[in-house]
Amino acid sequence: MTPRSRRIVLPAAALSAALALVPAPNATHAQGTPKILLIGIDGVRPDVLAEVPTPVMDSLAASGWYTAGTRTTTPSVSGPSWSSMLTGVWPAKHGVTDNGFEGRRYSEHPDFLTLVERERPELTTFAAVDWLPLASLEGGGPALSIAIDTLVAVDGYELGWAAADSVVAARAAQHLASASADAAFVYLGNPDETSHRHGSIGVEYRDAISLSDRHVGWLMEALRARPAWEEEDWLVLISTDHGRREDGGHGGDSPEEMTTFILASGGATGSWPVAGPTFIVDVAATALHHLGVPSEIAAELDGRSLAAPGEGRPIR
Ligand SMILES: [Zn+2]
Repeated sequence: MTPRSRRIVLPAAALSAALALVPAPNATHAQGTPKILLIGIDGVRPDVLAEVPTPVMDSLAASGWYTAGTRTTTPSVSGPSWSSMLTGVWPAKHGVTDNGFEGRRYSEHPDFLTLVERERPELTTFAAVDWLPLASLEGGGPALSIAIDTLVAVDGYELGWAAADSVVAARAAQHLASASADAAFVYLGNPDETSHRHGSIGVEYRDAISLSDRHVGWLMEALRARPAWEEEDWLVLISTDHGRREDGGHGGDSPEEMTTFILASGGATGSWPVAGPTFIVDVAATALHHLGVPSEIAAELDGRSLAAPGEGRPIR
């Protein structure tokens, strides 16, 4: 791990972080220093995503790789699902089976950013979230450990979720545009919370997904503004933790609740193999594979890299 860990909790007043990000020419880089940005958007049903105007994600998918046939955890609940996306292992290993996070075993099965810090401590890690349990649980640790170099955590329940997502995206964009960064995770919670609040997958939920797409745009503009963008090989992964029912609820094992998506964008993603069955645990495995984290670490994950179909997947 790098010498100093910083945990930053932003006050609501930081909301107005003004960004002057100028998009650089769009370019792709199959070669260069490998970097990873994972954008996690909570509770986005892929069939609804397909119906909502999301020009940024559409553009990324068109030049990259996309599957709308990924399977999440049982149960299809944020705590176990995000734990599996971030650690690359199923709940049987990480121990999280609900949003109480009882029984979590993150010390044995850490998040992928912490694995990066353990294996490649010279790399710089960053995370920004507005669902606090991911970042602030005491005793047994949060999903995102203190090994991560910079962690921005805001409270979506306090700020309101649309505003909180904007703070998270703005702060992350500010960091990604200029700071040292090798591996990053940005969490947006507004679509899930909006659907719960309205008890539907209707217009409010769809507007929230469109807002998330604009936030993804901020993050992409930030990457393209990096001084070393031309020398870097950014893999951008965008995914969600679970789907939902028509009434906005989730947690069951229906296809609408269990089916998620993975979008991959970056220099080499256009040549990735066509997706077979994919699983939420593949996200962390893909991120670590791109960064070149040793294969013995990857072998302990339940997921496998989406870029390397020849590598084995443990049977779950
Ligand atoms: Zn969720």
